[in-house]
Amino acid sequence: MLPDWELPDADDIRILENETHRTLKEGCKECGFLQVVFQSCISVENECKVFFLSIECPKCLAKYKDIMTIKPMRKDYDNKSIYK
Ligand SMILES: [Zn+2]
Repeated sequence: MLPDWELPDADDIRILENETHRTLKEGCKECGFLQVVFQSCISVENECKVFFLSIECPKCLAKYKDIMTIKPMRKDYDNKSIYK
């Protein structure tokens, strides 16, 4: 089981929804087709949460990952406040 700080919280879900909406408004970055197939993901890397979309365009067949935003993990904030 993942530690709590690696699990998405309500704030993460809100970011994911907002950023997904914003990114998909622009459609496929190769051809601009709007009805792309996508999966929104959060991956945990180097003490950050990386929010990204995995996108497949049914029109031009482009496949790519679009990093939407990166958020430092709560663990970092805790460390700073404790050891300062
Ligand atoms: Zn396309």
